This record gives sequence, C-alpha cells and structure tokens, in this order.
Amino acid sequence: MDFKTVNPATGEVIRTWRKMGRDEVMQTARLAHEAFKQWRLLSVAERVPYFRRLAAVLRDNLDDWAALVTTEMGKPITEARAEIEKCAWMTEVYADNAEAWLADEKVAADGREHIVTFQPLGVIFSIMPWNYPFWQALRFAVPGLMAGNASLLKHASNVTGCAFAIEDAFVQAGFPGNVFRTIVPDYETVSALIASDIVQGVSLTGSTQVGRHIGAEAGRNLKKVVLELGGSDPFIVLEDAEIEFTARGAVTGRMVTAGQSCIASKRFIVVEEIAEVFAKRFTELMQELKVGDPLEEATQVGSLVNEAAIIELEGQLAQSVSLGAQVLCGGSRLPGPGCFFPPTVVANSRCGMRLVDEEVFGPIAPIITVKDEAEAIVLANSSEFGLGGSVWTRDLARGERVARQVESGTLFVNSITKSDPRMPFGGVKNSGLGRELSHYGLKEFVNVKGINLYDHG
Ligand code: NAP
Repeated sequence: MDFKTVNPATGEVIRTWRKMGRDEVMQTARLAHEAFKQWRLLSVAERVPYFRRLAAVLRDNLDDWAALVTTEMGKPITEARAEIEKCAWMTEVYADNAEAWLADEKVAADGREHIVTFQPLGVIFSIMPWNYPFWQALRFAVPGLMAGNASLLKHASNVTGCAFAIEDAFVQAGFPGNVFRTIVPDYETVSALIASDIVQGVSLTGSTQVGRHIGAEAGRNLKKVVLELGGSDPFIVLEDAEIEFTARGAVTGRMVTAGQSCIASKRFIVVEEIAEVFAKRFTELMQELKVGDPLEEATQVGSLVNEAAIIELEGQLAQSVSLGAQVLCGGSRLPGPGCFFPPTVVANSRCGMRLVDEEVFGPIAPIITVKDEAEAIVLANSSEFGLGGSVWTRDLARGERVARQVESGTLFVNSITKSDPRMPFGGVKNSGLGRELSHYGLKEFVNVKGINLYDHG
C-alpha cells in the first residue's frame, strides 16, 4: 500500500512511499536479531567509538536533515537544527558516561561475591511520533544500542523521510549492518512483530490512546514496554514571580514546535494577585511572534502538522469559549495554504473546558486564575496527565516545595520543562511509564542480572 508525505506548510506532496509487507518486516527483524548476536559481544568501551562517529555524522548532515524535518512536519528551521545538534550532544553524553552507568554493581549478601550486571535483551522495537522526528527516535535508540541491543524503528508515517535518514546516520557512522533498521509496517504487522519471538521489548512515544493499545499488546505478549505519552504540563505562576522573566518563559514554554510538544506548557495556573498583569504581558509577547514559512530563518512559529490538528484546536477552543473562556489574542486559523494557527491566549479558563481538561497540541494557552499556592497545586494535579511542569517564583525553597507536590515525572523551578540526557525523562498517570535518558533510560531494556558466588564445600 502506498502513502504520501506532505509538506504541511505548503500542502505539496513530498514523496510517495511504500508500506513494507509482513514478510519483509519479519525478515528485517530476523536480520536485526542476527546482528544483535554479534553486537552484544562487544564491551561497552568497544561500542563507544561508534557513537562518537554517530555524533559527528549528525553534525555533518545537520543542515540537510534539519531541512528534511522542517519540510516533513513544519517546525521552524532554527528549531530543527537545534534538535539535531541536541541529538549529537545526547549521543556524546552516552559515549562519555555509558561505561560508568553500565558498570557491574557489587552487593554484600551471604555469599563470597554478589554481582549485579546489566545485559542486553535483544531486538527492541520502537514506535515514534513526528513532533521531534530525530530526537524521539534517537533518544531511545542511542541508549538502547549502547546497552547492546539491536533496534527496529517504526516512525510516524508523515516523517518517513526522517526515519530513513536516521537509518542512514547509523550506516554512515559504520555501525554493523542491521543493528539499527527502519521499517515501514502497517498496524497489523506492528502487532505481529510485538507478538513475535524476535522482539524483546517495545518503546512507544505517542498519544495516550495509542499508548494504551501498544501497552496492552506488549502486556499480552509479556514484553517489556516503555510508554512516553501525552501531557498537559502546568505552568504555575506564584504572586512573587518576576513578570517579564515569567511571561517570556511562558511564551517559550507554550510555543516550542508551535505548541506541539509533549512537554510544552499547556495550563497556565496564575495566582490572582498578578493574573491580570501576567496575562497582559504574556499576550503582548505572543502577538510579537513571527508566524510563517518555517524554512525562513526569522520564523518563530511554523506550521502545524496537518489539517486535522487545526480542526482539533478549533473544537477545543470553541467548546471553551461557549463556556465563558475569553480569547485575548489569536483564536482563528490563518488564511492561505498550509496549516497555520496564530499564538492564542485564553483567559477565564477552568476545569470542564476542553482547553484545560485535554492535551492541547498547538499554540493555545489557557490561563486559569487561582486564589493561592495551595489551590494552584490542587489544580495542577487535577489532570489525567503527569509529564512535566514548571513553577515560577523568586523564592527557590518555595519553588522546590511546590515542585515536590506536583504529580509529574519532572518539574522545573523558574525554567520551562526541557529534556536533558543527564536527567531522567518520563511520566506518571496517563503520561506513561518507564523512563528515558540518563542512566535510568539506559537500564530500561537490560536484563538486570544477579550473579552469586559461594565458596565450594
Ligand atoms: P500517535 O498518533 O499516538 O502516533 C505515535 C506513533 O504510533 C506513530 O508512529 C503512529 O504511526 C503509531 N501508531 C498510531 N496508531 C497505531 C496503531 N493502532 N498501531 C500501531 N502503531 C500506531 O501520536 P503522534 O500524533 O505521532 O504524536 C503526538 C502525541 O505524542 C502527543 O500526545 C504527544 O504528547 C505525544 N508525545 C509524547 C512524548 C513523551 O516523551 N512523553 C514525546 C513526544 C510526543 P502512524 O503515523 O503510521 O499512524
């Protein structure tokens, strides 16, 4: 079955692709398994040089691959370049630290020696989303392969060009053939692959709905699974926050990738004492953003991923406005070809409105006014999601106190939520399970094995 990739900023078809048949996918999986048998024999130190070359290859191809990202999913070219540079950096962080992070551990118990060692599992199957086409795929693949696994990637269909560019990156870096392969299966073949003996683990980054489905398939087949799902991160503004600094943070937090980030700030929870002045400055700054052709250097907000994304946003906004939400700026799609929606700020938002209750995957910022810090925390936690979040205050101790009470995988004080290869990343509640990045991510797809030595006789 053929399908097309389309440039969402112009509506033009980029390329027609072919879905692989089940036999081809299974044969590729078997090849990955064969490659794994050799790759696992290398020590971590012997694997590290491959990753240093991978980082160099990413930088060598940065301009071409950034343009591919932008053309396939619409983010500004400056953000696409930064994404690929971040992949190179993350790869280096693993190259620098993996030996220490995967070193055997010694435990004192009742025998002569007790060792905990971390051995690879086999072929791990990753299913990835389009919003950070290089980052999402590589932040799984790099630690996965560093630990000695092989990897299959099924990317979101609209970024199939990126999927093959990532496979090419591993080839250019000189990795043994088939330790990393891109496949283009239909959904039934995804299920067959998860059920097959070859696949030993599954990592999905995507929506909560698809996460439930893939998680259930993995569970039915007793396969280890990591799920990185949706989010509705709170952005909590306390009354002692510095307005200009916080409003600028709000713009960056909401507008990264035109708001289509799992860890974008999505609910702006503001203490009433400063709500009006914050809303005013936030709105002014949102209106200053340059929306347009994502390939232009000056563009700050590119295209949304497709027409369906705009329709979803319009529905969420219309329902909220019908319940009393007030649009302070933006609010309706921009004319012309392409999927452009302007930065939008919405005051008088509250629970019961779709903009607050659901994940809003686009440039709309609902502001919810609360009485005080305590109410802000209750509201932050009244969400099905628990991915990231931030709290803004001049008082770091107070910020930490709030951070500890918010139900999320990560929380930032006076910074937007961001991923960092040295820190764990992942969610609680409907935002998923398991962790990526740092040594926690490195150890998600390993056999944590105990070796116990006792004296003879
Ligand atoms: P999605 O619709 O869930 O798709 C994710 C992946 O799953 C794609 O590769 C998609 O392939 C595949 N897929 C969809 N339905 C499937 C099925 N029935 N069987 C097998 N595979 C299936 O998500 P998205 O629209 O690409 O990404 C946006 C979502 O991802 C948001 O909710 C966002 O918050 C979340 N996200 C989370 C994180 C995180 O780290 N927590 C990071 C980024 C994004 P096709 O394209 O072929 O349908």
